[in-house]
Amino acid sequence: MLKYPKALENLMEDFMSLPSIGRKTAERLALYVYTKMEKEEAERFGKDLTAVHQQIHTCRICGNICENETCDICRDETRNHRQILVVETVKDLFTIENVNEYHGVYHVLNGAISISKGITMTDLNLSSFLDRVTQEPPEEIILATNATLEGETTARYIKELLREKNMKITRIAHGLPVGSDLSYADEMTLLKAMEGRREY
Ligand SMILES: [Zn+2]
Repeated sequence: MLKYPKALENLMEDFMSLPSIGRKTAERLALYVYTKMEKEEAERFGKDLTAVHQQIHTCRICGNICENETCDICRDETRNHRQILVVETVKDLFTIENVNEYHGVYHVLNGAISISKGITMTDLNLSSFLDRVTQEPPEEIILATNATLEGETTARYIKELLREKNMKITRIAHGLPVGSDLSYADEMTLLKAMEGRREY
């Protein structure tokens, strides 16, 4: 089989390590980089990839991504810090934040409990959550994990974890179809899901 020069093969491998990119797409992209991209553009692309890892951190309070030790949301004193909305991913946080209706703070779990994928509670950003709510008990914890088996399992697990603490825990009303990913919900659905949340 005819092989591409090493550098192109390497780049193809890199592209293929990204989600939803197969060999054919990787081949097209790698050739595009060589034939169509200016050298400066390629350099900037490389730098941007590195910068994501060098400059972005995880907020030590909530697990959101930020350029400082803590994120803008955690530092914002106009927000209600006694209302914590728990989401699976940073993408979910951005989805809710962009609806512009929620004014509390967040906690990002970085995933959900999944028996089939071998993801357990210790893989999630949960211990910092427990510390957080123990040190400063919030008025409300809103569980906004996805309406999937994993999301439900995680929500139940958190509820169980907080059982002794007697806290108000609500779960967003999933007008979202079962099995759905929060980040795919449109604004209206999300708004309704937030408004219709109930004691969990
Ligand atoms: Zn934060």
